[in-house]
Amino acid sequence: MKPKVYFKTFGCRTNLFDSQVMMGALRDYEITENEGEADIVIVNSCTVTNGADVSVRGYINQMDKQGKKLFLTGCGAHTKGESLFGANKVHGVFGQSEKMKINTLLSSENRFYEIGDLNYVDDAIVEEFVGKSRAFIKIQEGCNFRCSYCIIPFVRGDARSMDEGKILEQVSRLASNGFGEFVLTGTNVGSYGQGEGRNIAELMKKMSLIRGVRRIRVGSLEPIQVNESFREILDEPWLERHLHIAIQHSSNEMLRLMNRRNRVENDIELFGMLHKKGFALGTDFIVGHPGESDALWAEAMENIRKLHLTHIHPFTYSKRDGTPSATMKPEVNGAVAAARMAELTRLIEENNRTFRKRVTSPLEVLIESGNGRKYSGYDQYFNKVVVESDEDLSGNWITLEKYEVHDEHNLAQF
Ligand code: SF4
Repeated sequence: MKPKVYFKTFGCRTNLFDSQVMMGALRDYEITENEGEADIVIVNSCTVTNGADVSVRGYINQMDKQGKKLFLTGCGAHTKGESLFGANKVHGVFGQSEKMKINTLLSSENRFYEIGDLNYVDDAIVEEFVGKSRAFIKIQEGCNFRCSYCIIPFVRGDARSMDEGKILEQVSRLASNGFGEFVLTGTNVGSYGQGEGRNIAELMKKMSLIRGVRRIRVGSLEPIQVNESFREILDEPWLERHLHIAIQHSSNEMLRLMNRRNRVENDIELFGMLHKKGFALGTDFIVGHPGESDALWAEAMENIRKLHLTHIHPFTYSKRDGTPSATMKPEVNGAVAAARMAELTRLIEENNRTFRKRVTSPLEVLIESGNGRKYSGYDQYFNKVVVESDEDLSGNWITLEKYEVHDEHNLAQF
């Protein structure tokens, strides 16, 4: 009987891709989606915030108590790996560059700490996405930006891109295995191909020619990456009608403190143009970064209202040791940051409802989960849709003309 392995994946879509790669590289082990029956647990960790570190450590303690054999990988291996290894909490620690050796690493009698090469280039190809109906395609890794609050470049390395041939082969394999929706992912996705005469828009055009590719989503872009070549594909039928463009803040003074490359005036112009084209618009936003006075917050909220946002990933600033922001003053009180987060989230939720009420085109929904009579998925605007039906809709694409707009999702009968 092969030992059973369970993958616990924290964090971003790039980690989801990496977990899928590791699953594909196992030979002498059986993958289980049932944590309880697992002999071995792979913790593919995240370290983007203090909260992420706390969740990872809490999970490891919980699994340790259950007597699981534990292995730590992912971004947290670079920040917390040594201390967790030193505390004998895990049998082995390995960096992302070592993941293809997982079958050998898991059978190592001796405990090990192999952090590997931060700037390796991934060339793994996956055949499937266990439990998923859309595929995440890692096209890039690392980041050359140096936002003053961010630890990611130190745990994912400098920006580098996957080989174009491998990416296209990856997409055609998954498309021939039934996947129609592809989400491009990476650490700084929009920097794909930089310095190599390639760019993400050209790659997406080539992907769209592959049989079976129906919808392409981009995980996240930086405002400066919605450049001329990207603007050329905005009306393509295979491009989702939602874009996630990370601004992180909407006060120029804060953007300067955060060492961001975007500026409010350009962001307002960009989001205005995309709004006119009917796009749903998402962003990342950090509240409570040191220096965020009441006056700068009021200015930021005034500017946010000019961005037509319908989706948001809001974060409360989290001090990361070793980053420039960690020593910045004055710090923002936790309760104040929480109130700002609530104010921001309320506004965007309201915008989202207004957007959904104004949509006139039919919704193209890929059903991702559900059973019995209830199913759910996301439409081209990346809004959640709940569908009630007597048919088994799992993994299906459906087109909806009639539906009700509810607080957090649209509801339809099919
Ligand atoms: S763009 Fe900035 S926030 Fe994003 S990963 Fe790079 S350094 Fe971090």
